[in-house]
Amino acid sequence: MMREHTELYIDGAWHAPIQESFLELTDPATGKEHVRAVLGGEADIDAAVAAAERAFVSYSRTTPQERIALLERILVEFDKRAEDLAQAVVDEVGAPRALARGVHVPTGRSQIVTAIEVLRTYAFTEMRGETRIRKEPLGVAALITPWNFPILQPVGKTVSALAAGCTVVLKPAEATPSPTFILAEIMEAAGVPAGVFNLVNGLGSVVGPRLSSHPGVGVISFTGSLPTATRVSIAAAPTAKRVVSELGGKSPHILMPDGDVDVAVETALNWLMATTGQLCSAPSRTLVPRERRDAFLSALVPAVEAIRVGDPRDEDTTMGPLVSAEQWDTVQGYIRAGLDEGARLVTGGPGRPPGREEGHFARPTVFADVDNAMTIAREEIFGPVMSVIAYDTVDEAVEIANDSPFGLAAYVTGEDLEAATAVAERMRVGYVLINDAEFDWSAPWGGYKQSGNGREFGPDGMAEYLETKVIRG
Ligand code: ADP
Repeated sequence: MMREHTELYIDGAWHAPIQESFLELTDPATGKEHVRAVLGGEADIDAAVAAAERAFVSYSRTTPQERIALLERILVEFDKRAEDLAQAVVDEVGAPRALARGVHVPTGRSQIVTAIEVLRTYAFTEMRGETRIRKEPLGVAALITPWNFPILQPVGKTVSALAAGCTVVLKPAEATPSPTFILAEIMEAAGVPAGVFNLVNGLGSVVGPRLSSHPGVGVISFTGSLPTATRVSIAAAPTAKRVVSELGGKSPHILMPDGDVDVAVETALNWLMATTGQLCSAPSRTLVPRERRDAFLSALVPAVEAIRVGDPRDEDTTMGPLVSAEQWDTVQGYIRAGLDEGARLVTGGPGRPPGREEGHFARPTVFADVDNAMTIAREEIFGPVMSVIAYDTVDEAVEIANDSPFGLAAYVTGEDLEAATAVAERMRVGYVLINDAEFDWSAPWGGYKQSGNGREFGPDGMAEYLETKVIRG
């Protein structure tokens, strides 16, 4: 089925862009064309920002109760479109159905529920002695999102901004735009006032700089890569706007000397392989005690070899393709780098899995005897490639874990919870999961070092869209 998006959503109505052009996208599982999406230009960004600025005048003065009512209507409309959203993620990201329905949709939904809960109790005004401190919306929020989680990211950023009282211009990733077109339809159906939410699909290189430098934008929330974030920050600097960013990772997973190997394997499958490695917090470096390395590998390898790589629409598929031919090439380059630099390939490797000649399918791959200085241990691969690194002492494991330009997430598997927590505290990352714990989607999310700055989700996420004012008198 061919999806077609011909109009942008600006100022409460659907418009063809001022200068029309289209991007044709191919299905990651088949390589066939399946989406045709309209691209906006700089003039459309200007129109969207102007609409958002006009709408900000009244929307920024709504009460939390009014915004709760609006978010509740958005939630109702979101639920009506849940299956459409899931299908778009299956088709465009290549996520298996169970993952789209079980992770992509509910994590997006949870952001709306959380925004409502946050608004019920958030103190926008407080008195410090005689001084009144107010938290006020920063203005127009420009939201620039990546292709890998095209429901969670756009919805999460949008509802945090709307809860704060900001108006929004959303620029989704070119590769997976359909969920955000559905999101605009949700906003329209929910009766979001004109100009409060605007969608401009477009090439990042064209509309991104306009949006980032626009004097009418008060805050940018960006998720993507560091080189792009650098461009966004430089473009934003002359107007002194806040830039919140969530970037890449090379997240470590420490199997403690007393850790359960099966739990460690589950962590690897759930957080790395299930998304074909296309998750910024994927545990792509697994640190194991040297004397337990073989035991770990003998549990890991059969589990990885049991992964069923296939069309995301087939019910028995447990790992879908990579999103694009470009991403496939990148992943292949890293697998070759692993081999060239002397890592030991224990399963997977270059090329496509047998019988998967079409589409961007990669083989679930594990390298052992990886040195943390190797390319595959330092750079984000965004593919189903795990590096297993042996350590001798827990102190050394922490040192290796922290020896990375990134600092997004980390994982610890260990029986002694106190020892595992002590290790978690020593890691320079924003989020640590111990023993494959369930993720809390309302807790602050973001990184240290080159994984970004600021936080998303929950009250901390909303706070990024607020600025502080003092009134005395
Ligand atoms: P990824 O490598 O995950 O695709 P990118 O950083 O390239 O990450 O893209 C993340 C988002 O940034 C996308 O929506 C993309 O279109 C957008 N983008 C790309 N170039 C720019 C730019 N110069 N300014 C602003 N946004 C950009």
